[in-house]
Amino acid sequence: MQTCTIKTVPSKTFYIETFGCQMNAHDSEKVVGTLVAQGYSQVETVDAAGLVLYNTCSIRDKAEQKVFNRLQNFKREAGKGKIFGVLGCVAQQEGEKIFDRAPHVSLVAGSASYTRLGEMLVQLEAGNRRVTGLSLDTDQTFDTPFTRRDNPHRAYITIIEGCDKSCAYCVVPFTRGPERSRTSESVMAEAGQLGEQGYTDIQLLGQNVNSYRDPSAAGWDFATLLGRVAGIAGIRRVRYTTSHPRDFVKPIVDTMDANPVLCDHIHLPVQSGSTRVLGAMDRLYTRDDYMRRIDWIKNAKRRYSLTTDIIVGFPGETEEDFQQTLDLMDEVQYDSLFSFKYSPRPNTSASRMEDRVSEEEKQRRLVIVMERQRAIQIRRNAEMVGGIQEVMVEGRNHALGQWIGRTSCNRTLNFTHPDTNGNDLAGRYLSVRVTRSGPNSLVGESATVV
Ligand code: SAM
Ligand code: SF4
Repeated sequence: MQTCTIKTVPSKTFYIETFGCQMNAHDSEKVVGTLVAQGYSQVETVDAAGLVLYNTCSIRDKAEQKVFNRLQNFKREAGKGKIFGVLGCVAQQEGEKIFDRAPHVSLVAGSASYTRLGEMLVQLEAGNRRVTGLSLDTDQTFDTPFTRRDNPHRAYITIIEGCDKSCAYCVVPFTRGPERSRTSESVMAEAGQLGEQGYTDIQLLGQNVNSYRDPSAAGWDFATLLGRVAGIAGIRRVRYTTSHPRDFVKPIVDTMDANPVLCDHIHLPVQSGSTRVLGAMDRLYTRDDYMRRIDWIKNAKRRYSLTTDIIVGFPGETEEDFQQTLDLMDEVQYDSLFSFKYSPRPNTSASRMEDRVSEEEKQRRLVIVMERQRAIQIRRNAEMVGGIQEVMVEGRNHALGQWIGRTSCNRTLNFTHPDTNGNDLAGRYLSVRVTRSGPNSLVGESATVV
């Protein structure tokens, strides 16, 4: 590690911008808590901050470029005594090369090093302008009592970090390190505390949340943990994301069926409908294996909303492979999905594969997936018109005079409500009749008197 000392942090204020997934959003909540515990205060603009942090995503090339553009925009600010730090996946992936590409950056740290964040801040305060946290050699998870949660009603809890799979396209094992689960005791303690603090909605997080394996003697698997978290006093909704299909076992569905606190939603990323492509991706399941899991879900006691991730244009994906993905979408009838053009990532085995699909062809396939899915969503959402849904109120759209709610099946349901005498309904649970539907949301009215 090089050391070059200039003046100390001008003020203990920081600004943080987060890119990417919910894991990153929640990591930022923990980073913010750690900074605040160390005497820093958060500000809303880069201008007002002494320390500027970017918590980054490198899952696709576009996400990675965003952070370098930001750093470029604020290059001149470094001369005014501001300190810049790059956290998260781009930091881990690019490492000390970031200092060459953006010399005004003073801190580069991946998520596996956040347990050392306090120590790294002390080094910055002491004037070190080349501080790094890049080791992936850890069996620790970033458990902290200092988390600063952004939402007063819904709370994220990371139960497992890193990933031990090696999907050919994916950079995560290189940026987030080996898989490590928290003890069930620490997860239960955090969830119990959240219940006591008035949180009612909990989301369990992990790159592969269902690969969870309690490292303590209790040895709980994911289904057991799910059932126990759902039983905590005060908790009305529990969700989880993301599940790997290989580790999605039947007891998870049975536990959900037995416990209405576990939301009516399962996100099960398929990536491709072609067994040949799934093999090339090293996904560890076939189309049939995946469809068996869909059958468990469709034959369950409750109706679950199903969502997925799809990658188009993986190296060697033929028109026939692509058709199989479209057929699978028709068969499953997903309630929603995220679709991505394959993006080659550093270090991954797919980045060395030949037989690339052209950018134009990837774009064409992406548009077909999006259009096909839009038609499915229009149909599925229309089926909900006339029914009653329980929503948790998330906020208000003043312009439309509507409240914004989320159903257990993870749909946005915007609704009107009789005069509430100016009550803020955020965080309340209400029954809403669905009156209209669109491709991405529902509209309704609540008759509940508050
Ligand atoms: N662990 C989850 C799983 O196994 O399904 C996925 C987590 S990954 C962070 C989120 C999604 O990003 C993936 O499901 C995949 O669809 C997409 N993704 C990952 N790498 C990609 C790449 N190189 N190009 C395009 N999409 C990618
Ligand atoms: Fe990436 Fe595969 Fe791990 Fe998911 S399971 S995070 S896609 S390597």
